[in-house]
Amino acid sequence: MRGYRAPRAFDGERFLDGGALVLVEGSTIVGVEPGTAPAPEGCVVTDLPASTLLPGLIDTHVHLCGDGGPRALDQIPELDAAALDAVVTAAEQASLRAGVTAVRDLGDHRWTVLQRAGRDGERPTVVAAGPPITSPGGHCWSMGGETSGVQALRHAVRERAERGAGVVKVMASGGVLTPGTDLTACQFSLEELRAVVDEAHRLGLPVTAHAHGLAAVERGVAAGVDGIEHCSCLTGSGTHLPAELAAALAAGPVVCPTVGFLPGVDPPPHVQARMAAVGATVEQHLSHVAGLYRAGVSLLAGTDAGIGPVKPHGGVAYAVADLAGPCGVPLADALTAATARAARACGLGGRTGRLAAGYDADLLGTDGDVTTDVTALQRPRVVVARGREVPLG
Ligand SMILES: [Zn+2]
Repeated sequence: MRGYRAPRAFDGERFLDGGALVLVEGSTIVGVEPGTAPAPEGCVVTDLPASTLLPGLIDTHVHLCGDGGPRALDQIPELDAAALDAVVTAAEQASLRAGVTAVRDLGDHRWTVLQRAGRDGERPTVVAAGPPITSPGGHCWSMGGETSGVQALRHAVRERAERGAGVVKVMASGGVLTPGTDLTACQFSLEELRAVVDEAHRLGLPVTAHAHGLAAVERGVAAGVDGIEHCSCLTGSGTHLPAELAAALAAGPVVCPTVGFLPGVDPPPHVQARMAAVGATVEQHLSHVAGLYRAGVSLLAGTDAGIGPVKPHGGVAYAVADLAGPCGVPLADALTAATARAARACGLGGRTGRLAAGYDADLLGTDGDVTTDVTALQRPRVVVARGREVPLG
């Protein structure tokens, strides 16, 4: 048995008074004791003074096939299988080194990420969607998920279930990174989205919908999706959150607003130009997310990691800082968005995202006290993934 002791601890839902001594046996947490408790006989304890101990972070929106470079998504079709595999491996390792011990991949190229699902070794836990379902020529069409019509959409959902997907991702609107698509327009009819949701739920899979446009968010909610990605509520002249939609979101799907921007890095000029064309700015999105929180919407700290230099793999700590800063979310809730709530959204509730006996030994010990300095989350001192300590280099 091994132990990790810190004077501050967050268990996935709340801060624990007086920190914690987390006991690990193999790949599992076997006990969470008060920070001052004596270690059991024979237990080797790693002391983490001035540190906060948390569950490993979870990024609910990543693109492991994206290398985080300026052409991250554009270059994917040009890569051969070995090169793409190397990109995914590097993304997984960068995630682990940042304390991200589980990810939900929402933008596979063909089946690259899903096919690695059974692979062992030092990797984060990966829940994958396969190629996002999109309309012909629609957002991220080059990933291989172009489909339309109720019957073909139901078939696409079944194919993902058969290949081991843990979630279905559907592109309900156009996107910033696919020229020729309209951010404010819907890509599928309500009938089509309902077919996706119905087929997925029949197979026990949740559905999350990429939606920038207000109409696409409203249509996704009407179709009964389990999650909304981005949820920008763009109208062509900025963001708009009607009261009825806010109430429906608060009562319904969990929202991953993909905040978390690497400080000091601007999106590439062509991306900024496409955002400006619909009146979207990062600052406006952050204040829109603050409005979602005030309306009672459940938020996730997923980032869209991998799509470009402003979105590095492992960057979920920046999303927590955005939520707890400009978005006005209390720190404990912002941390829950990256731990326990994130685990539930990924279908990993009961397995990770908590400091509790019986959960996977996924741990992050920070260099500094997160309660007084949220940026301490960006400085891992110890990362444990399913019981194995990650070399931080
Ligand atoms: Zn994405």
